[in-house]
Amino acid sequence: MSITPVFSFFILPGASGLLLFAAAFIFAMWAQMKVKSAYAKYSRVPSRGGITGYEAADAIMRKAGIRDVKIVRVPGQLTDHYDPIHKKLALSDHNYRSSSLAAVGVAAHEAGHAIQHKVGYVMMNIRQTMAPAVNVAARFLPFIMIGGFMIGRIVPSFYFPWTLAIDLGIIIYAMLTLFHLVTLPVEFDATRRAKRELEGLGIIAREEAAGVAATLNAAGWTYVAAFAGSLMNLVYLILLRGRN
Ligand SMILES: [Zn+2]
Repeated sequence: MSITPVFSFFILPGASGLLLFAAAFIFAMWAQMKVKSAYAKYSRVPSRGGITGYEAADAIMRKAGIRDVKIVRVPGQLTDHYDPIHKKLALSDHNYRSSSLAAVGVAAHEAGHAIQHKVGYVMMNIRQTMAPAVNVAARFLPFIMIGGFMIGRIVPSFYFPWTLAIDLGIIIYAMLTLFHLVTLPVEFDATRRAKRELEGLGIIAREEAAGVAATLNAAGWTYVAAFAGSLMNLVYLILLRGRN
């Protein structure tokens, strides 16, 4: 589920910048709080079927005819993810061994990604293609931004690197924004598949679906927040460039 997407802010003085920053920051915090509280709540609600996260992911993948994906246990909380390169479905400790509504929900969501991979879900393919470039770009971003900011503020006569930093920032944030946008359908589709499979296989009862939905929908908001944060940085840089 990886609830910490590539996410960085470009802090600059100025009322519009501060306002954009505050709005994106509050939205991101709100989403993180929402997922944490939903997870805390539903990781304490056992599913009546008593099937663990591991068993749920295994059953869903088996039904989809997936036999070459290994389910592994990883430390941490909500560190769950599907790794399409190594064909690994990683479940965090609680979600691996527990049969809580949160555990089976998250495990089913990750199995949903494995199904997307198997059926060649186009948005996932686009996301996978973009991922390496986005990772490299995101790593350079702080240096470009802090470097550009320092040069622009401390040595204002040094005009060229400052505008260059803004241009590079715009390119990188455009990439990040597009990446976060493509991530949205991938995440929502995995959640949709999870809900359907959990009920279809009888892992959860109809009355339990609301708890699963609350957990997964809350996690979905963190991806919306990541997209909004990236978009606001992009808009701000474009405004800044226009002003210079
Ligand atoms: Zn996901």
